[in-house]
Amino acid sequence: MELILPIQPPGPQVLIAPLPSSSVPGLISFPYLFCPSTTEQTLSSMSTAFYPYASFGRLVVLVLQLLKIMSNMLQPQIILLKEGTDTSQGKPQLISNINACMAVVDAVRTTLGPRGMDKLIHGDKGVTISNDGATIMKLLDIVHPAAKILVDIAKSQDSEVGDGTTTVVLLAGEFLREAKPFVEDGVHPQLIIRSFRAAVQLAVQKIKELAISIEGKSLEEKKSLLERCAATTLSSKLVGGEKEFFAKMVVDAVTQLGEESRLSMLGIKKVQGGTMRDSFLVNGVAFKKTFSYAGFEQQPKSFDNPKILLLNLELELKSEKENAEVRLSDPTQYQSIVDAEWNIIYDKLDKCVKSGAKIVLSRLAIGDLATQYFADRDVFCAGRVMEEDLHRVASATGGAVQTTVNNVVPEVLGICERFEEKQVGNERFNIFSGCPAGHTATIVLRGGADQFIEEAERSLHDAIMIVRRAYKNSTVVAGGGAIDMEISRYLRQHARTIAGKSQLFINSYAKALEVIPRQLCDNAGFDATDVLNKLRQKHALATGEGALFGVEINTGGIVDTFANFVWEPAVVKINALTAATEAACLILSVDETIRNPKLESFAFATRVCDNLRSPHECGSGSSCRNKTSRTVHRTNLKVRKEEVPVWVEEAGEEVCQAEEGVCADDRLDDVQLVVYFVFASFLVYVVLLNTLNPPHCSSCSDFSKVMNVY
Ligand code: ADP
Ligand code: MG
Repeated sequence: MELILPIQPPGPQVLIAPLPSSSVPGLISFPYLFCPSTTEQTLSSMSTAFYPYASFGRLVVLVLQLLKIMSNMLQPQIILLKEGTDTSQGKPQLISNINACMAVVDAVRTTLGPRGMDKLIHGDKGVTISNDGATIMKLLDIVHPAAKILVDIAKSQDSEVGDGTTTVVLLAGEFLREAKPFVEDGVHPQLIIRSFRAAVQLAVQKIKELAISIEGKSLEEKKSLLERCAATTLSSKLVGGEKEFFAKMVVDAVTQLGEESRLSMLGIKKVQGGTMRDSFLVNGVAFKKTFSYAGFEQQPKSFDNPKILLLNLELELKSEKENAEVRLSDPTQYQSIVDAEWNIIYDKLDKCVKSGAKIVLSRLAIGDLATQYFADRDVFCAGRVMEEDLHRVASATGGAVQTTVNNVVPEVLGICERFEEKQVGNERFNIFSGCPAGHTATIVLRGGADQFIEEAERSLHDAIMIVRRAYKNSTVVAGGGAIDMEISRYLRQHARTIAGKSQLFINSYAKALEVIPRQLCDNAGFDATDVLNKLRQKHALATGEGALFGVEINTGGIVDTFANFVWEPAVVKINALTAATEAACLILSVDETIRNPKLESFAFATRVCDNLRSPHECGSGSSCRNKTSRTVHRTNLKVRKEEVPVWVEEAGEEVCQAEEGVCADDRLDDVQLVVYFVFASFLVYVVLLNTLNPPHCSSCSDFSKVMNVY
């Protein structure tokens, strides 16, 4: 008899790798079915049962693995922050912040000093060429939260003192660079912060000691000293080639303003064309010719000692604001209404002329009727004058802006020595000079490219701020890195008297200060190590004669920069040092960054909405809506689909509506649904199988016992 042996199955052990009970801790949560001691047994019996269906067996294994992951997820969790919140903390976070700041510093590093390079920034707002640290930082549009602090200190330096914006960023970056190895070695940042704060106090004290006062000089002497400060600021700018010319202009303008006047009293007007040398200063007010009507050309364009009437009033026919309704019973009365309107405007114009004013300026429109009326009476008028210009005219000529022409007394009229309309390049300018009240000046800047004039304006702004600062607070220090080297030497010397770790930190702070002369050399193409060695040697002289030595920017040696008139107001250095130290300490004190995606996506949605075009720009209502609605994918924020429609028109008004984004987390997506379905079917299947035919459990005597245990 022939015995036919059944072919052995390739082995369940191949099909199903034995799952050690410890590898499926989550399964323990399911009583009986996943009793750790029976899991293996259940699996192998199941796989034997499923032998003819090997591929189904594989599926079972897959599902079991899935089950394991899901049961892990069932472990209780402590939820502290909103879902999706990203937190990074500890030393790596601190180091990452320092690295980000150093990357930003590298972007502006090369712009320092007279030989610094310029940056061309090309963005939404067009092309900007600049050497100014604050402008570059602003335009870089930095998004890193820690690096943004550097942008803020550059801005604050710009608004507080005007100059030293690159210096402040560079110093902050260098302090962080020096602190980084200590942080990496495990020093607590608070120790470094404490030492840095102590160091900056010593440094500021030393700057005040070293600062040289220019107080008590005559105005002429003081002016020439201020010109040195302005020239030092301008030397590192695009207009550096004409620094003496502009320095003189800036000092004249600022001294004209007087000590207390506001910066807005100094106007800068830009006129394209001509050369830099064609720029000029008006000791008074100048503004571009405003929009005018026919009849304007018949008006006289120059006066000596004219009286000036300043108005904030519309001089146009039918300019009455009230929408009055007039009911007439007799058509012949109509003419009387029309006449009344004409009488109102003629009355106003008559009062202007009778006031004795030869020049009438208004913030609001002066219509064609008024223009012709004034032309017939040899009066000059200009409507739609910018508010700041009108206020400057008022301040310079001693007039007061009127909102009515009734009772115009002579006291409210301004006066100046000369008024003329002058052609500057392609533009016509109204120029009021010889103003008795003073306190105002206007610089008319000329130049080729638009970018050039813009940068020249920024440079002049820096110089004006510096001169104003030095005028009020007249102490100066030697530039070209001299003051930095001297403080560095002083701090190193001081550090030697301190015991403990602080000595190292203050030494590092002192070393960081050397970045200014080093960068000045690097940017000029000199050997920085060589120059720094010479400077260190000079400053270390016991007699103190080398305290004013800095980098000689033309030859690459060292020179007494104070004697060479490279002067900076002490306030620039003091402000730069304190702001940079504060920023460095702030960054060092942050050890955790928490990002809230909800807030971020909201901000994003708003921004998108801001950027959308309004219906006016893209045509009529409904088609516009199609054009502007869009879907935004932001996978990094887990926001899959964010509908951001749109400008809609509500009662004739455009309203920007940003609908809330639909987060992937808020809804089940297709893959998840399939997985849940398969899992649920499998669960039902296994429960049925086990209920009908419970497998034998070696460690648990019977089914009910197991159930009781759990
Ligand atoms: P910031 O934006 O910080 O003002 P600048 O590009 O204006 O940067 O450079 C200022 C630095 O250049 C200062 O440290 C100043 O002392 C130095 N500096 C300016 N003119 C000279 C010069 N003629 N010789 C040497 N150093 C100079
Ligand atoms: Mg400068």
